[in-house]
Amino acid sequence: MLTIQELTPIPNIPQPKFKRIVIVGAGFAGLKLARELANTDYQVVLLDKNNYHQFQPLFYQVATAALSPSAVSFPLRRLFHKTENIVFRMAVVRKVDREKKILETNLGQLSYDILILSQGANTNFFGNKNIQRHAAPMKTTSEALYIRNKIISNYERAVNLGNIEERRPIMNVVIVGGGATGVELAGAIAELRNQVFPKDYPQLSFENMRVILIEAGPSLLAGLSENSQQKAQSYLKKLGVEVMLGTMVEDFDGYTVTLKDKEPIKTITLLWAAGVKANSLLGIADVQMAKNGRLLVDQFNKLLNDDSIYVLGDQCLQEEEEFPNGHPQVAQVAIQQAKNLAVNLKRDLKNQEWKPFRYRDLGSMATVGKKMAVVDLPFISFQGIFAWLVWLFVHLMAILGVKNKLIIFINWAWKYLAFDPSLRLLIRPKYINPNKREWLLDQDDPEE
Ligand SMILES: Cc1cc2nc3c(=O)[nH]c(=O)nc-3n(C[C@H](O)[C@H](O)[C@H](O)COP(=O)(O)OP(=O)(O)OC[C@H]3O[C@@H](n4cnc5c(N)ncnc54)[C@H](O)[C@@H]3O)c2cc1C
Repeated sequence: MLTIQELTPIPNIPQPKFKRIVIVGAGFAGLKLARELANTDYQVVLLDKNNYHQFQPLFYQVATAALSPSAVSFPLRRLFHKTENIVFRMAVVRKVDREKKILETNLGQLSYDILILSQGANTNFFGNKNIQRHAAPMKTTSEALYIRNKIISNYERAVNLGNIEERRPIMNVVIVGGGATGVELAGAIAELRNQVFPKDYPQLSFENMRVILIEAGPSLLAGLSENSQQKAQSYLKKLGVEVMLGTMVEDFDGYTVTLKDKEPIKTITLLWAAGVKANSLLGIADVQMAKNGRLLVDQFNKLLNDDSIYVLGDQCLQEEEEFPNGHPQVAQVAIQQAKNLAVNLKRDLKNQEWKPFRYRDLGSMATVGKKMAVVDLPFISFQGIFAWLVWLFVHLMAILGVKNKLIIFINWAWKYLAFDPSLRLLIRPKYINPNKREWLLDQDDPEE
């Protein structure tokens, strides 16, 4: 096996006139930083394993056929048409040689002056291999599309089964994790069951379809106000979602969900939204990592014991007085850290002092269904139709690109007025020849 230094450099990356900043990951943090550094005296090389940016907060709408995958994904190259100092490559980063300042990728090696790690987080199955094998996570656009296919294929299958006992596990959906993702998925699936599927499959009786949301903790939406938690739970109940709090999932073999001290549940669809773990790469020392895998950084996002590496967003753990165990792994933290680092890197060009990072909590929100959402702002908390409108507006504004905003607006108007999401298509991937797979299949993370 070749060492990093023996690998050929990634071809066609111009020799830098200025310092080279390599950014790994074009999610909320990496992309924000790259855009802030456009047209500066740095060469920025942005690497991501996909050639698009993913807007994760709306994945659940892709999974439930309300939005198309392209509405929540944005082509990265299009963002950098007029920015000469930024080079993008679709590459999987595997390893770093911190002494020689070289990165190893699936395309070859790349040297850096400053390295920014913003690789985000992945699904945490807490070491349960069975659950990892059989459950469906939702951390990427392609996983959200898989869930859409899985759910639709279940009913295409169930409608051909005469025996009700055989149909039940195919129709039931179990969601694990009572955070915003689990709550939003459960609400959206219940709405499909209540209003859409009975029209699509009139021969099936949807009273036989259970939508179950399981949470190990004592409440849903940990971190939101008690009022919002209770309201979200009552909205789910209204939609017919069975909420099981204080319930531990122990195993899943693809047919039966085994619970601690409770009756097992029969289903072939277990959606896993129960936890995340930070992504990483080889070459980082154990002492630079917290127990949960997040990389330890100082108040400027500089990696512990390294002068050239900075870590942003979900991947880092930064202590602040109010957040002694690190910030929540949410988009606002990633964006604000990227903005602060961009300011500091620009100050560096003028030999000015760096500013430490301070997180400004803008609030949290979650939606359960049509006219049902909860919003907690720093000084006020509200629920119901107004909260739902605020949720729609905030997410519409946050999505990249005017075309995507328009498409989403039209989709939502159609969905909420007609209640007939039009994307219930089962587009199945065709078998890919092994010798053509590398560029057509999702690449695994280096540590998987
Ligand atoms: C389903 C879901 C819903 C969510 N909803 C909300 C919400 O409503 N509000 C909120 O604030 N937060 C939400 N979050 C959390 C939020 O999306 C994250 O906190 C945010 O994306 C973190 O940004 P980041 O830049 O650190 O990482 P990400 O945005 O995850 O970006 C990481 C990037 O790194 C790339 N990458 C990873 N490994 C490699 C590698 N080895 N080589 C090359 N590229 C690599 C990935 O492809 C990705 O583009 C949600 C998350 C999920 C999964």
